[in-house]
Amino acid sequence: METKKTTAFDSVAQSQNGQSARDVSSIEEPDGWWSRYGNVSAAIYWGIHASCLLAFWVGVSAADIALFLTTFWLRVFGITGGFHRYFSHRSYKTSRPMQFALAFLGTSAVQKGPLWWAGTHRVHHRYSDEEPDPHSPRKGFWHAHQLWIFEKQWHDTRLGEIRDFARFPELVWLNQWHIVPPILLAFLCYGIGGFSGLLWGMGISTVACWHATYTINSLSHRWGSVRFDTGDDSKNNWVLALLTLGEGWHNNHHRFMNSTRQGFYWWEIDITWYVLRAMQAVGLVWDMKEPPASIYAEASTNGAARATLRSERATSS
Ligand SMILES: [Zn+2]
Ligand SMILES: [Zn+2]
Repeated sequence: METKKTTAFDSVAQSQNGQSARDVSSIEEPDGWWSRYGNVSAAIYWGIHASCLLAFWVGVSAADIALFLTTFWLRVFGITGGFHRYFSHRSYKTSRPMQFALAFLGTSAVQKGPLWWAGTHRVHHRYSDEEPDPHSPRKGFWHAHQLWIFEKQWHDTRLGEIRDFARFPELVWLNQWHIVPPILLAFLCYGIGGFSGLLWGMGISTVACWHATYTINSLSHRWGSVRFDTGDDSKNNWVLALLTLGEGWHNNHHRFMNSTRQGFYWWEIDITWYVLRAMQAVGLVWDMKEPPASIYAEASTNGAARATLRSERATSS
């Protein structure tokens, strides 16, 4: 009789559905474990921030700026095109090698692994700006921006949220050894530009990449315009869309998260969408999704209602 082999991973995945007493987020760690682990990660995190000040001593060359821009924009794309639009929302399809390449690029941004990132992000969409949301500005701006990542409850990968990708052993490996791509990138930057290359291509670029990403959790749930009634605080913000290769069209995204495209109109600049379209043209990705006609109809109905409201206010004042 064939019996299903139960792996450690299965027990973790089951636990996420409450089918097992064993839960990865409640594996008993020695007393004080989190405080030690959390303190070390916080020290590294703030230490990398502080290292940016070394730029005043090290200076900057044209080559450093080129390295900074390359590692910044490539890794922002790894997060937006890879971790977000592919792993979190499956808004397009690709091959297994390309899937790993996207995962590797995203992981080099020092935001943990693809399964952790996408699993946590799916929780954000399910509970957006409600109590279980990992990072709602309703709990405070800085909490949403960065402090939530130091909470123990968000340390573990929510494998139950991301079973679809957790069946790939190479992604599970990368998720566990998420420190590997950043270390390789650090060596590469040092090899290219020496210490100043390391500082600009890895240190300062990583901090810039962190905070560009974080603005979507903090500012894009606070500042901008609202096209759709999504029941949360998500906003469309063109400045943030430029900074994050298109993620600033966040109200659009919360309305229809399955769309690869987040700028729903030609004037809503969405560079991740343009890059993915170029990749589709050469066969690297396919089956990209766009919003259906019903979403555009809803947008124009809402737009007309807002225009009427504005003209009524103008008349009465
Ligand atoms: Zn999303
Ligand atoms: Zn959001």
